This record gives sequence, structure tokens and C-alpha cells, in this order.
Amino acid sequence: MTTRATQPAIEGGVPVRDEFLPFARPSIGRTDIERVVETLKSGWLTVGPRTREFEQMVASYVGVEKAAAVHSCTAGLHLSMVALGVGKGDEVVLPALNFAAAPNMVLHRRATPVLVDIDPDTLNVTPEILEAAITEKTKLLLPLHFAGRPCDMEGILDLARSRGLKVLGDGAHAIGARYPTGNVGALADATSFSFYVTKGITTGEGGIVTSPDRDFIGRVRRLSLHGMSSGAWKRYSDKGPWYYEILEPGFKYNMNDMQAALGLCQMERVDVFRDDRVSIAEAYSRELAQVDGVVVPPPVTEGLHAWHLYPIQIETDALSIDRNRFILALLEEGIGVSVHFIPIHYHPFYRDYYGAGMGALPVTERYFDRSISLPIYPSMTEDDARDVVTAVAKLLRHYRR
Ligand SMILES: *Cc1c(COP(=O)(O)O)cnc(C)c1O
Repeated sequence: MTTRATQPAIEGGVPVRDEFLPFARPSIGRTDIERVVETLKSGWLTVGPRTREFEQMVASYVGVEKAAAVHSCTAGLHLSMVALGVGKGDEVVLPALNFAAAPNMVLHRRATPVLVDIDPDTLNVTPEILEAAITEKTKLLLPLHFAGRPCDMEGILDLARSRGLKVLGDGAHAIGARYPTGNVGALADATSFSFYVTKGITTGEGGIVTSPDRDFIGRVRRLSLHGMSSGAWKRYSDKGPWYYEILEPGFKYNMNDMQAALGLCQMERVDVFRDDRVSIAEAYSRELAQVDGVVVPPPVTEGLHAWHLYPIQIETDALSIDRNRFILALLEEGIGVSVHFIPIHYHPFYRDYYGAGMGALPVTERYFDRSISLPIYPSMTEDDARDVVTAVAKLLRHYRR
């Protein structure tokens, strides 16, 4: 995955990196490969023993009894909203600084996504922000643990309980995160995690729903496989093992055993991967503290940040170029970077959907104009992190006006 920087970053200069540093890269070792091959050789490829084992492993890691493995975090968000009873006319409150998965799934429930702003320091929603958006139509709060930083779950759950609302966590970034009182996946009514290739662990594509309520997980599992009765043959043994019943119209969102085999192997290293990310984040924060014109994410004082992302903000007011040109210049320095996220209400579909009714979300919008996500993943070295900081500092100096 290495390419050479094609041109010097700053005219007449030499790029910081000769070998391009990718923005993200999964950690796939020999054992990961062997486990998937074993599953292929076993002859059982679809949902089966490996998937059940994987669910059990994630459930005990999170601190719940049961979990439902699905094809993606998006699928998990969709099924959770079905099982939480979100439907036509309901409002779901969620941050605009988001990936499209959650608001898209809200719309597929014929419900209304209500976009809110974020706290400028944590970049997460707060109980106060959520509360201000609650109406008599509100059914669900859908906080995102942005970048892997746990939201104020105590405050959010207190708010939800006092208003009779449900809480669904978007845990796409947060598998390795810890809230002081436990894993975020054990606290909300439901949490959907992602095992997409860039996330804390990967199954290629994949996700899982966790909940403290085991019956809820049973329902999500059933919905993930057509709404089919599981173990029906036991209850209707006079009819034989071929028998099943459709108990409600479900989906085809199950995880398969090839994904789960990879997931099992990855889960063995989930804390190691998280700690590697923490080290890179600490190196960034240490080095960037010496650099003028950049805002770094504050550390987590209680609990653990999973550091799926390391988003900085550059003080564009002091520069002769904007964030987009800054990113192009970083790429020319041999540094892969990205932006998380384009605010939901900026996308053409949602711009039309909200129309003139969409108020300003000043923190989200200002953040978007200034933010850059730096590379952060387990196989990165501290030298790589130092190169990133060198490049950021070089461009800030060069383009200062
Ligand atoms: C990655 C991501 C998702 C979707 O995860 P999938 O497993 O690809 O469906 C959802 N929400 C956020 C915030 C994400 O970053």
C-alpha cells in the first residue's frame, strides 16, 4: 500500500515522507489468515459455530450476556431501531457530525432524524444538547461515541429515563473504549459496533449489537435472519429438523463464519490494538503541544478512549490556505489523512430533505472547516507519528500569513 509522493510538497522542497504513510491499515497476521482458511476447510461457511463463539466472546468483553453478530454496524443500527420500536412519525436525535449510516437507517424506519450540534471539546453530544432537541415525538436518542471517546452515558441515560426514551449507541468507533462504569455496549438499551476494515478490530465487513437485555438480543438475532424461529425443530419435533417458522418479516443481515473466524482472532488482540492506538495518540498530543496553530483532542480523564480517529483542527484564520488545500499539501508530503465527517446536512439528499428548516449547527460546521484526521492504527510506529507532526508543523509554518 505504499506509493511515492509524486511531487515536492512545497515548491523546491523535499517531502517529509519518501514512502507514503497510509491513513488506515488493518492488522492481519498469519493466524488471522489460518483461522479463516480452517473455517473454509470445515465446510461450514455461513452463520454457525464460529459466529456463536464470536458473539459470546464480544458479549463477555463488553460485559453483557448475549450479543447478535450482523453483517455491518449499519445493519445493527437498523435492526436495533426495529426492535426498539422506532417507526413512522418518531423522531430520533443524533449528531450531525456523523457518518450517513445512522440517519439513513432512521429514514428507512420512516422516522425523522433530528440533527444536533456537539460539544466543542469532546466532539460528542451532551445530555444538555440532546435535551434541547426533545419533543413529544422523540422516541430515541442515538449518540455517537465520536472517534472512540465515550459519551456522558450517565447523563444521557438519566435524561432518557426521565423522558421515557430509548438510547441506541453508535459504537462504530468504540469497541476498545471504556466508560468509567463499564463498556459503552453494556450501558445503553442497545449499541451497534462496527468491524469494518478501518475500525478497532475487523471482520472485513461486520458488526455486532450488544444490550443488557438478552430478550432484545434474541429479537435482533431473529430479525437478522428473515424473522425465522430459531430452534423451531426442538419445539415442533414431530415435524422434523427441516421445519421453521417466520415469526415476523426479518432481514438478511447475519454475519457468516468466515467473518467470525477472523473476528475471533482479532478479538484476542482488541486491547493490544487499542493500547497501540493510545500510544500513537499520546505521541501526537506530546509532539503537537510544541506546534502553534493546531488544536488537539483533549485526553480522556476517566475511562478509556479507543482512538479510532485522531482529529486535529488547524487554525485556518492564521493561514493563507484553507483546510482542503492543507490536506492536499499533506498528501504531497507523503501523509495519508482524511476528514470525519462531512456534516450530514451538507450532503445533497439531506440538504433537500431539511431545506430551509435546518438551523445552523455552529460547532459542527466550524469543526468541519478546520478538521483533519491524522493516521492512527496499530502497525504505525512513533517515528511515523513524528513524521506526521513534522509535516503538519512544516505546512503551518510555510502557509502562515
Ligand atoms: C464506520 C461507521 C459506521 C458504519 O459501519 P459499517 O460496519 O460499515 O456499517 C456507522 N457509523 C459510524 C460513525 C462509522 O464510522
